[in-house]
Formats: sequence, C-alpha cells, structure tokens
Amino acid sequence: MTPNSPAAIGFLTELRQDGGHVPAPTFAARASRATWHERTADRTLHAVLLHSGAPDEACARARGRTLVFAGELYNRDELHRLLPPGRALPGNDAALVIALFGVYDLHVFRLLNGRFAALVTESGRAVLATDHAGSVPLYVSVAPGRVLAATEAKALRNAPAGRPVPARPVRGLPGTHQVPAGTVLDIEVATGKCVPHRTWAPPLARRILPEEEAVDAVRRAVERAVRTRTAGGTPLVVLSGGIDSSTVAALAARRAARPVDTVSMGTDEADEFPQARVVARHVGSAHREITVPTTELLRRLPHTVWAAECLDPDIVEYLLPLTALYVRIGGPGRRVLTGYGADIPLGGMHRENRLPRLDTAVCHDMETFDGLNEMTPTLSAVGGHWSTHPYWDRDVLDVLVSLEAGLKHRHGQDKWVLRAAMSDVLPHEVVVRPKLGVHEGSGTSSSFSRLLADAGAPPDRVRQAKRLVVREIFDQVVVGGRHPDDVALDAVVELAASRLTGAARPVPR
Ligand code: ATP
Ligand code: MG
Repeated sequence: MTPNSPAAIGFLTELRQDGGHVPAPTFAARASRATWHERTADRTLHAVLLHSGAPDEACARARGRTLVFAGELYNRDELHRLLPPGRALPGNDAALVIALFGVYDLHVFRLLNGRFAALVTESGRAVLATDHAGSVPLYVSVAPGRVLAATEAKALRNAPAGRPVPARPVRGLPGTHQVPAGTVLDIEVATGKCVPHRTWAPPLARRILPEEEAVDAVRRAVERAVRTRTAGGTPLVVLSGGIDSSTVAALAARRAARPVDTVSMGTDEADEFPQARVVARHVGSAHREITVPTTELLRRLPHTVWAAECLDPDIVEYLLPLTALYVRIGGPGRRVLTGYGADIPLGGMHRENRLPRLDTAVCHDMETFDGLNEMTPTLSAVGGHWSTHPYWDRDVLDVLVSLEAGLKHRHGQDKWVLRAAMSDVLPHEVVVRPKLGVHEGSGTSSSFSRLLADAGAPPDRVRQAKRLVVREIFDQVVVGGRHPDDVALDAVVELAASRLTGAARPVPR
C-alpha cells in the first residue's frame, strides 16, 4: 500500500467491558498492521489495523468517543460545509466523521458518500456502519459485554460464538454475521441488544428525462466520481476496452497532469488486448498487457474466494481474472480504478431489448447484490493495491438506477445513456462496442468449465459443480482458516465432479 491509499483498508476491533482479547487474526489483505489499545473506565478497545503507513489517521477521538475507520470518503467538500463556520477543517476522514458524529450522531452515516467500514464507541455503546453499497464488507460477533467486528469474516473465525443480530449469518461461523449494505447497527454493549438503521436503499422509482438531460446527468456524475477517486498520484485503470472501463480511463486521463497508467489482462485462451490498445492510444496512457496462463488463472480460485469470501460461483468467475491480474501487477501498492459494476444499474448483462425485462433485471440485481462482496477492496489488497469503483459511487448509482429503462436500452444499444455521455470523448468504435463480460473476454468461464468437465462433471451440471467447488474452497479458506496456497484444488474439483456423478470420496485435508 502507498500513501495514495486510505489510512486503513481493514480492521479487527474488539470492544469489551471486561479484559481479554482474541488471538492474532488472519486477513487476506496484504498491508502493514498496527495495533491500537484504549482503556476507559467502562471498556477496553483493542484494534488491529491494516494500513498504508499512517494508522493513526484511521482512528479519531472526540468527547469520549472513538472512531475506527477503514476506507475513504468521496464527498469531503460537501461534508466540510456541515461543520460550524470558522472551525479548522479536519485533516483526515476519521477526524471528519467523528466531528460530524458529534452533530448528527449515527445519522452521520446517511451523509457519507464513500467506501468504508466504521466503528464508533462511546459509553456503553458500539455503532457499526457500512457504506451505502457495503463495498467494504463488515462482520460482527456480539455477546453481552463484548462486540467484535472485522472487515474479513475469517478474522473472526476464532471468536467465541456470538448471539443472533439483525444481519446475515456467515456460513460455518456460528454467531458471526455480515452487516448489510447501507446499514448502521447500534449496539448496547452490556446486553448485546442491537438496533439496525438503514442509511441507503436503491431507488425504486424511475425518472423520465429528455435524452440530453439524462446524458448530462450521467456524464457529470461519473466525471465527479472519477475526480474524487483520483485526487493525488497517478491512478492505474484496469482496462478491457469495453465502454465501462474505457470511460473511466478517458475521464481519469482528462484530468491528470501526467499520462495515467492502464493495464489489461488476457490468458493463453482469450484476451481483449486489441480493443484495450485502441483506448490506451486514444487516452495516451502508459499501457501494459499481462498474459496469465489459464493453469495459473485457475490456481487463483482459492485466492479469489479467500479475498471475496463469496459463495456465488458466477461472481467468483467475474472476480477470478481480476484477482489473477491484481497479484500480477507487482511493484508498490497502487490506487486502482475499475469500470466494474456499471452493468448492474444499467442492466448491461441483459441481452435482449424488452424494457420490462431490463427493469426486472435491474431491480433483481439491486435487491440481491448485498453480501456478494463483488466490490471488496480485499480482492486488490491481496496484491497490495487499493481499488475503487466509480460506478458504485453513491451519487452515480442514484442517477443510473433511477433512469427509466428506455434510456438504458435505446436506439438498439445496451447502456445507451453511458455510451451517449462518452461519445465526444472516446472513439466511435469504442462507444458502440458490444458488451463482453470479463469472465468471457479472459476465457475464465470456459477454462473453469473445462476443468470440471475433464474431472468428469456431467455437461449439464457444470454450474452446479462450480457451486460445490466454491463452497468447498470457502469452507477451507474462510471457515477453516487454511491459506489458499495450501488448498488441493485438483482434489476439490474431483470431489465436486464425483458428487454429481454419485461417486464421492472425501477430500484429503
Ligand atoms: P463492458 O461491460 O461493456 O464489456 P467493461 O469491459 O469495461 O465494459 P466488464 O466487462 O463488466 O466492463 O468488466 C468489469 C471491469 O473489469 C472492467 O470495467 C475493467 O475495469 C475490468 N476488466 C475487465 N476485463 C479486463 C481485462 N481483460 N483486463 C483488465 N481489466 C479488465
Ligand atoms: Mg467487458
């Protein structure tokens, strides 16, 4: 990690009314660690911070309250305006949030546009918060007199079993729950009583706008999201040459004093190198191509599940090529911008032109994204980098989700409003390029399918086999705490295939 990353990218916190603390936690994120202790009359707080050189900036104290903050804010200017006039502006995000907590209490989390997980403690109380999208996952284990929280579930695997809280249970870790996206949990430490508050929900209504207004709104929102994510330092854009990442690369390049960096990954089986080159040349980026052999790509499956703590095989398939790329980038930690996630609010994965179906897909995806951890920063942190997703900026999401479906599919094009918003910035061939998913353009889906077919999975049950593989890996690396390098992938694949043919044998551990 570099100073161009947030002060902290993850944490484990343990708040107790008596003494004692959990053994050293395991994290997938590669970053320096710092510990922090605080003892007051009624509690002890012990924190392990994953940081990039300035861990003190991830913690703030004011008026008997302490905040631990992993991540960063994208609407600092707006938030500064809420502070009393004449007051010195807080020097970092943690100080800003705790100053505003003093004014708004837990409702401060309704004001933040950011990528973060946070804990606030004060007398007898623990307040846990996720950003609107839950983009930094947050897990909790609560029992009377103690609250444990961490940005990776595996960091809580040795926690004593907690009581039920209004959050999603984690498979295999009794009493550990994931805090939902856009949620604050207000916990009374002595009893473990926990009250949830939603701070964001995806828009349900749709706005009817003239083409030009919709296009302007999208352009302004995405431009701002890229600007607030690129302040200071040269960003690295993971670029496929598709409209989503080409937009990010072009807007980042427009505001940068020096050429931005771009990188594309491909495999021995498939790549989008020619398409990405067109964009790199056009925006004048310093461009790299990284080819990952499919054997190495598939070996990254355990690392992907370890980082994302995700049980959904489709999502793991999207994240696998990116994990393989992040661990190959090398060098000092970078601030990475990605076009990931644009398809969800725009219905870009939806390959047909009927508008009701498109909106059904958008509604479904916005209702079910939570807990999949698609945007987790741990994925790039496995390679030592900090990633951020302009399309999942709170304001961008609000604009994109709420546009009526006819602005998303229009003039025979998917993601029309985004394409139109970029028509003066990108070459025409890029603006009209049909969508190609990262799992398709890198040959990930096909090579994963072949791995299972070669192991004997029936052709019509390959998806089910993938689900079994992901679940078994999850059980080993998240629940069992095994390092992903130590997962016997061949044995896991064989077991999944044999389960579907009725010839199961136990996996050697
Ligand atoms: P489109 O959705 O129109 O294909 P896209 O390729 O930019 O646009 P996705 O295919 O959804 O978007 O991929 C998600 C993101 O993952 C991209 O925006 C990009 O940041 C990253 N990505 C995808 N494929 C590659 C690749 N081959 N090399 C580097 N980054 C990639
Ligand atoms: Mg693509």
